Parts: sequence; C-alpha cells; structure tokens
Amino acid sequence: MSEDTRYVYGAGCTFSGPIQRAGTTQSGLPCCPHCKGMLFETDTEEKWWEMVRSYAQKKRDESYEPMWCWATGRCCATLESLRSAYALHLEASDDDA
Ligand SMILES: [Zn+2]
Repeated sequence: MSEDTRYVYGAGCTFSGPIQRAGTTQSGLPCCPHCKGMLFETDTEEKWWEMVRSYAQKKRDESYEPMWCWATGRCCATLESLRSAYALHLEASDDDA
C-alpha cells in the first residue's frame, strides 16, 4: 500500500494540510475538519508549496509563505481574516522577544 501524499486546501476557507488531517462529508468526500467546506487537492505537499511560492513571487509578498507555514490546519473564512490573524500572531510573538 502506498502512502497517500495528497495535500488539500480549502475552496471556501483557508484550511490547508495533509489529506490525513481533512474531515469527511456524509457522502465520503474530504472536507475542511472545521467548517466542513469543500477542499481542493494537490498530488503532493511540494506542489502546494510551489503554488504558494509562485503566488508570493508574483505578488512580491515576502510574508505570504511564512504565513501559510503558520496557517497550516487553520480555518479562516477569508484570506483577509487569515492575514489579520497572522498579523496579530506576529505582534504577540514580538512581545515574547
Ligand atoms: Zn474551513
């Protein structure tokens, strides 16, 4: 049996993670474990990070990839709310330093 390397991400929310972390709908489809939203999938985790990196490069957004590292498994309704949650997290980490 080969390992399932699929990596999933939310169609309508910001959840992302290995397929093993996804929930399952009543009809047996993978879904976000938090909001039960639909998920897209890539064959491997590497492909997901390639997508993240190419988007970050296009947008010249240096915080985009670190944000997704932090955001793995988190379900926010929109990218904007994920961004503000991440900004708060950064502020909180600054206090620790
Ligand atoms: Zn979700």
